[in-house]
Order: sequence, then structure tokens, then C-alpha cells
Amino acid sequence: MQGPWEERDGVLRYRTRGGVEIYRLPMRLFPELDGYVYLILTDSHRILVDAGSGLPESWEDLQRGLEIVRARYGCRVDLPSLTAIVITHGHIDHFGGLTFVRQQSPAPVFAHELDRRVLVNYPERLITVAQELRHFLSQAGVSPERQAALLNLYLSMKTMFQSTSVEGLLGDGELLFGILRVHHTPGHCPGQVCIQVDEVLLTSDHILAHTTPHQAPERITRYTGLGHYLESLRRVAAIPGIALAFGGHEDPILDPYGRIAAIEAFHHQRLERVLEICQEPRTIVEISRALFGRQYGYGVLLALLEAGAHVEYLYDRGYLQVANLDQLEKEPEVPIRYRRL
Ligand SMILES: [Zn+2]
Ligand SMILES: [Zn+2]
Repeated sequence: MQGPWEERDGVLRYRTRGGVEIYRLPMRLFPELDGYVYLILTDSHRILVDAGSGLPESWEDLQRGLEIVRARYGCRVDLPSLTAIVITHGHIDHFGGLTFVRQQSPAPVFAHELDRRVLVNYPERLITVAQELRHFLSQAGVSPERQAALLNLYLSMKTMFQSTSVEGLLGDGELLFGILRVHHTPGHCPGQVCIQVDEVLLTSDHILAHTTPHQAPERITRYTGLGHYLESLRRVAAIPGIALAFGGHEDPILDPYGRIAAIEAFHHQRLERVLEICQEPRTIVEISRALFGRQYGYGVLLALLEAGAHVEYLYDRGYLQVANLDQLEKEPEVPIRYRRL
């Protein structure tokens, strides 16, 4: 993809109007997920934004990216010389690599306070969310055997990351180190932040070029959910002067405001579609199947959560009602069926 940046051996460099250098380093995160970490350089700061997933290939790619920055751009930077590490949100594909990075870098780690505990005590996060998830899956209409399989898949990530300390917090509106403006954008993740450097916005997983970032119901994790997410999109749309956005995955975004409008329109269409599906009483399992067809492995969980987030948004605002109230009153474990009001 062409744009107002240089590219050498897969590493992009963009120089902002204020003279800050932003390098984008590509990496393999999971078997079917690629993404980027960013290096932000000024005369006095060397900041790594995100750390990769913690899989060996992600660690290899980070080292290779830094080697390209040194060899092809002539910039003397390595992990021991970093001055700070900023984590954009508490998802493992963005912070898992801290396990490796911190062995070589004494730099302080910064995160938003709503995601701090995820880094500091990852097993606690997984186990408590698994409890909420079990309840959600049961109400959604997933069989007990299937629930167990999905939860095992989820909890298998527990071994991927060694909890770490967080030295600094990213506060909304704050100007960190005189160069990074923090915008708190909850929705995709509670502590999701976008980082503004002059006319550039590092959007992490809040805004992506091609796909709409994954949503999950707020009842599982507070400060997530479609309502918060759409509010956070509006917040970013109101920031003036963003000319270029770099996401945590996918291509750079040359029209960030247009992309926000397209994501909003997409979710409103999906909400309409859920209302259509719920002309007849439907469980979340049935709604997920109607929206996404048959899914496999982790895709099943992602589809249920995405459907659940849209159902929750509509239900909370009074566009859906519970159709099997009498049955629920007698048997609390029965799946909820939603019907359009
Ligand atoms: Zn994410
Ligand atoms: Zn991500």
C-alpha cells in the first residue's frame, strides 16, 4: 500500500509534522493473526507501543524489525535503550510479548488503569471472566458440554503470559512525555487507548482499516460493549486534525473520519439485522448462527460474543424483550429468547 511513508524491508517509517519518527514493525501474532508494534523516536525518547503476542514467532519478528530499523534506517535503537513501553490495551496479542521484552528492557510499562490488573494478574482475569462467560453461554443457549469446551479453549491462554508490573498509567487527555496524547476509548477493551502523535493516531484495535473490531457484551466485562464502543468512536471523530491512522492490525487508514463513519454504519446495519432475526423469539445461539453461519473452534466463541454484544445493546435500549418470561421464572437456567418489541 502506498502512502506518505517510507517502507524498507516491510518496516514503515513516518515522520510527523512535529518531527517525531514513527516506525511500524510487522509481526506474526497467532497462527491466523498478524499485526504491528510501533516504535516512536525523538531525540530524547524511544518508546515501544505494544509488545506482540508472546509466541516465539512474534518475538523473532520484533527482533527482526528492530534489526531493520538499525540496518536500513541507520537508527541505533535496541530493547535495552527503550525509555518506555506503552500497552494500548489488555489483549494478549498486544501485551503478551512483555514476557520476552522485559527480560531485555528495564523501561517502565504504561497502561490504562482499567487494564492494569490484566497485566499484573493475568490468571485472575481469565478465571473471573470465565465465570461470567459460563453464565452468558448458558443463557445464550449453549449446551453444557459445549460450554465446557469453549471455556477450556479460553483458559488455555493462561499459560501464555507471565504477569508483570505496570509502572505508569495512561490517563485520558494526558500528554505523555510531551509527545503522546492519550485518548481513552473503551469498548473493544476496558482500558483501550488511542495514542495521538501530532497528526497521527495509533488506533490499536479501536479502529481498523478493513474489519470492524471485535465486540463482546458489557455484562461479561465492564467498560466493553457496543454502547461504549460507539461512544468512543464519536470521541475520536471529534478529535480535530487526524490525517493518518495506524492500527494494531491491517493497513494504515488514510481517511480516519470516513472509516469511523463506515464502522458506525456497519454496526447500525447489524443491529437492524438482529431485529429482523428476532421477529420470532430467538436465543443468542440462534442469532449468532443466523448472522455468521456455522463457526468452528475459537470462532464459535467470537461469533456468540459479537451477537451477544448487539443483542445487549438492543435489549438495554428497549428494542428487544424477553419472549419466554414465564418459562424463565420457573426455570432460571433456561436460555433466554429475545423478540423484537
Ligand atoms: Zn484487542
Ligand atoms: Zn489486536
